[in-house]
Amino acid sequence: MEGYIGINKVLIPHGCIEAAYEHMRKAGQRRVEGVALFAGKENGEVFQIERTIIPKQEAMSLEEGWLYAVDGDELHKINVWLYENKMSLMAQIHSHPSEAYHSQTDDAYPIVATVGGLSIVVPNFARGQVDINKCAVYRLLPEMGWVELSEKEKNGLIELI
Ligand SMILES: [Zn+2]
Repeated sequence: MEGYIGINKVLIPHGCIEAAYEHMRKAGQRRVEGVALFAGKENGEVFQIERTIIPKQEAMSLEEGWLYAVDGDELHKINVWLYENKMSLMAQIHSHPSEAYHSQTDDAYPIVATVGGLSIVVPNFARGQVDINKCAVYRLLPEMGWVELSEKEKNGLIELI
């Protein structure tokens, strides 16, 4: 199987998701969307997240509002780091000012673009408690693109540890 299609469990330590929320809350105080990346290792059908990567990012003005942007140099640095640490990116997580959904821009310019990878969108600039059920979770599927997971699917796939 290619990419992460064979993965049926993604373990995210509380500390990793808290670090991402913390970053998104800070960005939200400036009314800007924030993005973070989850890196880790595959073990059979399980993907264990080990690190939260906060890429250098800038706010970019778009029709929909203020979107994060990560440049090519930064992505290259991240890829070198991943290679040296034998990790890969399973998921990206970013905040929206209000509603959580994958915008056209999110579909078109994902940082994680591996088949089977995840994109998590957090509402309300990540204010409040970490709650995966309040987030919209999308998985990149072959020939289908980014498909939103049902509540049952995301709870079956993602486990906070
Ligand atoms: Zn978005």
